[in-house]
Amino acid sequence: MDLKSNHTPVLTDAAPVTKSRLGVHSSLLPYSHAGTTFTHGMLLTIPRKKTGILEDVRSSGWLDAMKSSSPPARKITKDVGHGFASSDSETAGAYFSWLLKYPSALASFDQIMNYAKGKRIALFMDYDGTLSPIVDNPDCAFMSDNMRAAVKKVAEYFPTAIISGRSRDKVYQFVGLTELYYAGSHGMDIIGPVRQSVSDNHPNCIRSTDKQGKEVNLFQPAAEFLPMINEVLNSLEECTKDIKGAKVENNKFCVSVHYRNVDEKYWDLVGQHVHDVLKGYPRLRLTHGRKVLEIRPVINWDKGKAVTFLLESLGLNNCDDVLPIYIGDDQTDEDAFKVLREGNKGYGILVSSAPKESNAIYSLRDPSEVMEFLKSLVLWKSSTLKSLI
Ligand SMILES: [Mg+2]
Repeated sequence: MDLKSNHTPVLTDAAPVTKSRLGVHSSLLPYSHAGTTFTHGMLLTIPRKKTGILEDVRSSGWLDAMKSSSPPARKITKDVGHGFASSDSETAGAYFSWLLKYPSALASFDQIMNYAKGKRIALFMDYDGTLSPIVDNPDCAFMSDNMRAAVKKVAEYFPTAIISGRSRDKVYQFVGLTELYYAGSHGMDIIGPVRQSVSDNHPNCIRSTDKQGKEVNLFQPAAEFLPMINEVLNSLEECTKDIKGAKVENNKFCVSVHYRNVDEKYWDLVGQHVHDVLKGYPRLRLTHGRKVLEIRPVINWDKGKAVTFLLESLGLNNCDDVLPIYIGDDQTDEDAFKVLREGNKGYGILVSSAPKESNAIYSLRDPSEVMEFLKSLVLWKSSTLKSLI
């Protein structure tokens, strides 16, 4: 984007797929490995005139954009006897067709592990909607003890990182496991293991210590935006304070405005306020999530680049014997899925109970299936190790 432009970029969640867009997946065979496409340039350049989705959103209005990003929950429920039952058989049919394109990572587990044989798995996961259920109050998105135990166990066998849109501190408070690596603010605030070659390549990467006093690399590519983000945070808190249910969340290098608990007749008011505040900040952009508006810096950095950064930090990037797996449910996770798919590097797994277009290879329906997948990974690894004894 032209930083002098008055446009505030707006991106929406991917539209749900229709039957006509469904097809059989063609990428299920093991990959051939290729080099990464990591880019070191930081500022995102978008031609001034080419607004695309931005114009679509504005022409259809804030309300339409917010509604299309926040579809009602699908009424698909699991039925022990028949696999799935649905109040809407057409919806269930669309879901099964979609599974042909994005097969269940549980049903395809043996296939995934056949490819993983002899490889070192590195695991990356989103938090909200992936390890914890989506809840009305974002401050109460707690993960279950069973899920925490599953994550702790999986981290004993594989390098494991959580990459969330939340602030790094907040997601650490929720997870509470010191065995993991954490990236907050959509990957704009990363703590990773110390590796000199990585800090040499990234000017904003500094040596620091974590909460346990362990030496780490701290990477904050949007550090210069912090005063601006705090200004916007204050303005948004002020202008939405009288809208019942609206919640502004400080995610350090980005801000979320939740409208999950706002009466739908006031959604356009929330959108208008956010739009008005952002008019004065062309270096910030707006994205739509599920009942949340997210404001973040216009920099060439996302969860996909965070995965590459962490792989570099772990000494696992560009290695033929490494298989990264990324599990997430957000639009922002698509950047990570894309990096793995385009680089033929590993597997993206989308968490969704409704059909939608994705760069992921596989799917899981909800956090409970994520937990089953993590447990299966642990069983597979421990039985592999036993067979070596
Ligand atoms: Mg999520």
